[in-house]
Amino acid sequence: MGYVDVVLGLQWGDEGKGRIVHYLSRDYDLVVRFQGGANAGHTVYIGGQKYVLHLIPTGILHDDVKVAIGAGVVVDPEVLKDEINFLNEMGIDVNGRWFVDPRATIVFPFHKKEDALFERKDGIGSTKRGIAPAYRDLYQRFGVRVGDIVNNKHLDRVLKKQLEFNNIILKHFGEKEIVEDDIKEWLLGFREFLAPVLRDVSLLVKDYISTGKRVLLEGAQGALLDVFFGNYPYVTSSHTVTGGALVGAGFGKEVVRRVYGVFKAYTTRVGKGPFPTELNDDTGEKIAELGEEYGATTGRRRRVGWLDIPLLRYSMWLCGVTHPLMTKLDVLEGLHMVKLATSYRINGGVYDVVTPTLYELEKVEPLYETFGPFEGIKNARKREEFAPEVKRYISKIEELIGMPVEGISTGKESDLI
Ligand code: GDP
Repeated sequence: MGYVDVVLGLQWGDEGKGRIVHYLSRDYDLVVRFQGGANAGHTVYIGGQKYVLHLIPTGILHDDVKVAIGAGVVVDPEVLKDEINFLNEMGIDVNGRWFVDPRATIVFPFHKKEDALFERKDGIGSTKRGIAPAYRDLYQRFGVRVGDIVNNKHLDRVLKKQLEFNNIILKHFGEKEIVEDDIKEWLLGFREFLAPVLRDVSLLVKDYISTGKRVLLEGAQGALLDVFFGNYPYVTSSHTVTGGALVGAGFGKEVVRRVYGVFKAYTTRVGKGPFPTELNDDTGEKIAELGEEYGATTGRRRRVGWLDIPLLRYSMWLCGVTHPLMTKLDVLEGLHMVKLATSYRINGGVYDVVTPTLYELEKVEPLYETFGPFEGIKNARKREEFAPEVKRYISKIEELIGMPVEGISTGKESDLI
């Protein structure tokens, strides 16, 4: 029997999952995306060349790995086509190596427009990729799904329903209404591109597993952005935890072997929402510069803060992490003082894990332990070569999360140590 391993972000996204998935995926046969859409941006460096992928799993960068987009993903066909063209231009042969579940939902241009209109009115920091409106329409039961492209009669019916609603919104904002024929033409322009890659990803995984193959699930965003369990409303529109992986790709828990949880050696957050360990000083600025904390999708400067153990404990619980992985430890090199939030004080009580509702997170006071100086990270081949205070930092984290950190990344292209 084969198995499934899952890679998830444990913070507010941008933990370096793309790079971790790329590193791990040489040991897998199939890599699957299960939620979100082109709002994710996974960055991988290979031999100094930068690859940013939004929809296609980064496993595609290994010749012998196949990739799939599961039913839980919302797919912007324009982005997907651009990405496939980009990979072709980079000399990566994608032929026969990528699949899309017919049940994945289409993101239309009007979804992106709506996203921008709502963001202008009541912004929560959307990437304006149309993700939330596409999920909304799916749950409203008039979403158009990728498989509808090959079924003309059905397509007419679902498009009509979809447009009826979207035109009400556009009209409300004083925007031009969508003409059904135009949008149908736009969509059918992708028929030739998408029809050959439609594949039931749930059954594809079943086939792989029953023939002894290994499947890796690639999460986007992070556990603290989960639509149920993040700091609502500053969340993404999908499920970023292990349960979401099972639902979005389509199978039960029995086949899951490991859950890799990826976290940075510090914390970042994009857009609004509470951030108890945020640094609004020169140290924050320095970490942002050294860590190149600018969004792959939006170019926005990420907010930066210290590593937050109460939140990490919470997301590890949500995801059932078996293998924690830490990234970007090298970014802290050279800092004389590094702080670790070990617990929170709330209303006089001290807590080591907290359910991060907005209300609670806004009034917590993080309690810190201090470490430093941080040296000997970038050139280290093994953990023993880290400076004593770096080793103490890692041991403290391991003690507080109750398990060893399985791998540490100390550079964009470095091996995990
Ligand atoms: P993702 O959304 O979780 O895949 O994260 P992003 O790709 O948005 O951001 C991760 C960024 O950090 C990318 O530019 C990676 O090349 C970079 N990165 C990943 N791991 C490391 C690391 O250990 N050290 C450094 N310096 N950069 C890293």
